[in-house]
Amino acid sequence: MPWQDPEQRRALQARLIAWQEQHGRHGLPWQQPATPYRVWISEVMLQQTRVETVIPYFQRFMARYPAIPDLAEAGLDDVLALWAGLGYYARARNLHAAAQAVTAEHGGELPATLAALQALPGIGPSTAGAIRSLGHGLPAPILDGNVKRVLARLAAIPEWPGRSPVARRLWAMAEALVPDEPRCRAFNQGLMDLGALVCTPRAPACDDCPLAFACAARAAGAPEAYPGARPSRQRPQRQVRLLLIEDDGRLLLEQRPPTGIWGGLWSLPECPADDDPVARARTLGAACEPAGELAPRQHAFTHFELLMRPSRLRRVGTPPEAREPAAGLRWFQPDREALPGLPAPIRRILAEAGYPTG
Ligand code: SF4
Repeated sequence: MPWQDPEQRRALQARLIAWQEQHGRHGLPWQQPATPYRVWISEVMLQQTRVETVIPYFQRFMARYPAIPDLAEAGLDDVLALWAGLGYYARARNLHAAAQAVTAEHGGELPATLAALQALPGIGPSTAGAIRSLGHGLPAPILDGNVKRVLARLAAIPEWPGRSPVARRLWAMAEALVPDEPRCRAFNQGLMDLGALVCTPRAPACDDCPLAFACAARAAGAPEAYPGARPSRQRPQRQVRLLLIEDDGRLLLEQRPPTGIWGGLWSLPECPADDDPVARARTLGAACEPAGELAPRQHAFTHFELLMRPSRLRRVGTPPEAREPAAGLRWFQPDREALPGLPAPIRRILAEAGYPTG
């Protein structure tokens, strides 16, 4: 195997670095400059999310929080509002908490050791590896999704990389292959770029690959069969009724609890799918009459599918309630004020109902 023979390992490193210099990605916003902070934010945003989607979010984030102490001092509401639409909101909450820890414990600069990085909320081995390698320029291994695929193909590993023994094997490969400073950064960037541009999941372009000479999957034929897919599992489905409570241009929104799905974001009030939405609205202090149903929407979370049934309700009774809604509830006027950070599926439901959602 190429990482075990020193000569072949050197050849593999040299070819990948030369390829990266000529064909790799050099113009991504987080590469200009690739500071540990910028690498960190980009790595977290890129988890489960495509590069093209991440770029505008990254640019807005950096414009608002150019340094870690800026992020630490921001309100969590602001951070979540900026994150709205990217999904997996625990990432934003962890970034905020980690920025506060870095500011308090490390003078506002990300540490460079694996242990100190992994002690921070939301930073696992892969993100820590990227920060150390691409941000600090250290000879540290990285193993994001693209790199896992490239390495699994080089070694023709047929199993799913999510299994612990397979992950351990891939980490060992990544560690053995990474060259010393200063070439380690270009090498790791090359692995990531190769996975993104050449060694793609369904149609690897082996004829254009600088590592083809050492690739066991290619030699075995059908390289796209490596690595194995995640064993399939049926995600359970949950149903919920969403309440679109309207009152003469006003819309009632509810802030979700800080943890759990969409934690801390504003959303539509909800109740179990079989409950009476009018009765539920009354418990929120709004006497309502039904005003129609909107099309149900399905949204996939990691562990379950959520079927959302939006019910439109019109508040009735005059004069309008004088008292403020309960804590966690607020009337918004979407045609006069920007809506707060909303989960993307809720934003789509409101757009379908005719609201300006930006
Ligand atoms: S030869 Fe093909 S399968 Fe092997 S690393 Fe290159 S692109 Fe991937």
